Amino acid sequence: MTEIKCRLDFIQIGALQCILMETLESTKDTPKYSAIELLLEYDITPTQQRVEIANILFARPQHVSAEQVLSQLNSEQQKASKATIYNTLGLFARKGLIREIIVDPTKVFYDSNTSDHHHYYNVDTGMLSDIEDGYMLVSNLPALPEGTVAERVDIIYRVRNADNAADNIQ
Ligand SMILES: [Zn+2]
Repeated sequence: MTEIKCRLDFIQIGALQCILMETLESTKDTPKYSAIELLLEYDITPTQQRVEIANILFARPQHVSAEQVLSQLNSEQQKASKATIYNTLGLFARKGLIREIIVDPTKVFYDSNTSDHHHYYNVDTGMLSDIEDGYMLVSNLPALPEGTVAERVDIIYRVRNADNAADNIQ
């Protein structure tokens, strides 16, 4: 508790800080408290909407699309625009709180698990799932282009349902 209050001191004093302090006091024993703590940890100002979105993302390890976050938020009587959701998820990804996985330009997932891991993507179901640790070892990586450093290797292993694959062969 003390640590959080100290961090809050760095936020400019004003209405926002008052709201934050009140929120902290009233929610310190609820999941909302840990979402605030998490956002502060990643240097993200915990507005109410960001906290709500973080609560959805971190309810369990999952891969969600912006549309799924939006429909979940709206089903909980929250009113958020699609632009707010995209901006918030983009901010969370830039700050390293979540990982953005671009399956194709029209399909972007947000992963609450930021550890290094690869994914299966089922083109029939549109589902993204984790490949278990240690099953996809990447070796013989090429030399990096001059003036670059490695950030991460992302592998998306595209699969389809066996039934549909058989249909396609006929
Ligand atoms: Zn994942």
